[in-house]
Amino acid sequence: MTIHPLQTPITQLPGIGPKRADAFGRLGIFTFKDLLFHFPRAHEDRTVFKKIIELAHDETVCIKATVVSSMQTNLIRKNMRISSLRVSDGTGFLELIWFNNRFLDNRFKKGETYIFYGKVRLTPKKQMVTPIFETPGNQKQTGRIVPLYPLTEGLTENIVSDCVQQAFARSGQLKDPLPGALRSAYQLCEINYALTNIHFPTGRKEYEIARRRLAFEEMFTFQVALCSLKKRQASRPGARLTVSPEPFLQSLPFAPTGAQKRVIDEIITDLASGTSMNRLVCGDVGSGKTAVAAAAMYTTVESGYQAAFMAPTEILAIQHYEGLQKMFRSHNIEIELLSGSLTAAQRRRALARIQAGEVQIVVGTHALLSDDVHFNRLGLAITDEQHRFGVNQRRALSEKGDNTHILVMSATPIPRTLAFIIYGDLDVSIIDELPPGRQKIDTFAVGENYRKRIYDFLAKELLAGRQAYIVCPLVEESDVLELESVTEYAQKLQKSFPDTPIGILHGKMKPAEKDAVMSAFKQGDLRILVATSVIEVGVDVPNATFMLIENAERYGLSQLHQLRGRVGRGTEKSYCILLSQSNQETAVNRLQVMKNQSNGFAIAEEDLKQRGPGEFFGTRQHGLPAFKLAGVFSDMELLSKTSQAAKDYVTGKIPLTEEEKSLLQEKINALFNNHVTIS
Ligand code: ADP
Ligand code: MG
Repeated sequence: MTIHPLQTPITQLPGIGPKRADAFGRLGIFTFKDLLFHFPRAHEDRTVFKKIIELAHDETVCIKATVVSSMQTNLIRKNMRISSLRVSDGTGFLELIWFNNRFLDNRFKKGETYIFYGKVRLTPKKQMVTPIFETPGNQKQTGRIVPLYPLTEGLTENIVSDCVQQAFARSGQLKDPLPGALRSAYQLCEINYALTNIHFPTGRKEYEIARRRLAFEEMFTFQVALCSLKKRQASRPGARLTVSPEPFLQSLPFAPTGAQKRVIDEIITDLASGTSMNRLVCGDVGSGKTAVAAAAMYTTVESGYQAAFMAPTEILAIQHYEGLQKMFRSHNIEIELLSGSLTAAQRRRALARIQAGEVQIVVGTHALLSDDVHFNRLGLAITDEQHRFGVNQRRALSEKGDNTHILVMSATPIPRTLAFIIYGDLDVSIIDELPPGRQKIDTFAVGENYRKRIYDFLAKELLAGRQAYIVCPLVEESDVLELESVTEYAQKLQKSFPDTPIGILHGKMKPAEKDAVMSAFKQGDLRILVATSVIEVGVDVPNATFMLIENAERYGLSQLHQLRGRVGRGTEKSYCILLSQSNQETAVNRLQVMKNQSNGFAIAEEDLKQRGPGEFFGTRQHGLPAFKLAGVFSDMELLSKTSQAAKDYVTGKIPLTEEEKSLLQEKINALFNNHVTIS
């Protein structure tokens, strides 16, 4: 069997030994293909050449110059050795300097000419600082637009760039997964052009053309998969569940809002229709999604089926379990919690009861998906906070029954039009109304000069018996830094609040550790929680009335809204302070929206306006797969175009050859781990 050149392992390339292969492996790169699809995170334009006489302070440019001195070295401090070299191009002289670089000592000879690229400074002397250099005629790093890659230890820009070039040379021409008809309809360039120019563009325009095409391909692939799912769903029979939820709604201690009623109606219609429901309920934090889900469960259970409710964390599962028990107390419905903390014996008993149908509602984490969980007659599978689960997981849960209805819930408000596009495989219901009587969270956007006053205010809240969240300063994405940042912040804070128990929470903690900290906070044993922006979605601590968000200017408004939703859950007045590190007016102004607006959908619109869809979706809060170019895809227009193209494709308007089909399928497989087959 011959393998396709694209599948060639990168270890075939000269210069890639086991160590480098390991480093590449950490980036998920194993084959030529992986290399070609390892897109640069940015480019540096090194095409600008200047004469020495033209150089301006602070600019970064190329010059072509001849060495006119030997290397001088100076030890200016114990650990600081400066090497300097004089060069000239006939228009003037320039001093090149490097720090602590012994390798250069005998590198240059008088009379040799090089291209140098680096940053210029004119004071105190005309200098170029740590330039890179190459011999003219054989340039790889200068005189062109150079890709900058996501790296890991053991790799440099040069190594990656070199390997990518070699992989290109050895891969031959790629077949285009986008059919020609589609490319011409949407004015997309061909794949080989796109790949070449995403790595090594000859200009800005060429790069744009390439990026547009590849971003289109990503979105298109995703949406074809979603449309195929939806098409298949539409024809999937569903258990006919026809009991009215009215008695349940009557038993609630509150009257459902208009929005809740409308969404419940939409769900009940689906459940009774005979085809299976596949619906997303999108509602702001606190909009009452649980009651909506519970109404659906009531109808399911009273129609003789079981319902499963899956939450992303143990603590949320427990919270739901307790809440549902209260809601169903008067209805004689058995609820079981499948939690990681059950003993083996308890678990065995629970599983037996579920299988025998003695339990009607099962609440749990993704532990619900494990192979030994067998339902007697599963009619409804609900996933809460859907962005924490993939398409596969919510399907896996529904596959534990026959003709099971699927309901997913999201607390991430996104503008309605977008919801319909990006959740192509789901019908969408939106709860755009909060229950009456909710207290507005008083929000303030302030600069660093307010810190003292903020801490004083926090002290007052603590004294009054309340609790507080502090969202820690953002750091570069790194396990170590994240941990350090949280720990360090908490230690510093402890000095200001010596007697207050402070807890920390960050993304790199194990789920069990996180749960333990969250429970301690919930029970009031911890009074301040210092956390990264990962604070558990949906966790309910009514006594927490104060939230301070550090570096607030670095978050999107939607994310701030999500974070803010952790407070304002009880009867006491709550406060959210958005602190910008800088006192910059623009940063503070941008955040003023938060002060006046408490509607998540309106904030999402504003966020989208301020940041554009690239950034908006780039935060990956939306259950989308990690698009490589999503951070840069340029406009809304492209998004709706891919949506249209995908529909055209799935409905057969764009015919594909078998080969095109299998190329596309291959892409979808990569995206969904082989779980979605296109029709
Ligand atoms: P979320 O949409 O964030 O999941 P929940 O379902 O947890 O919100 O509801 C938040 C709170 O609002 C709960 O305490 C719930 O009992 C209450 N609630 C839900 N619906 C209403 C309503 N129509 N009127 C008054 N309170 C309600
Ligand atoms: Mg909820």
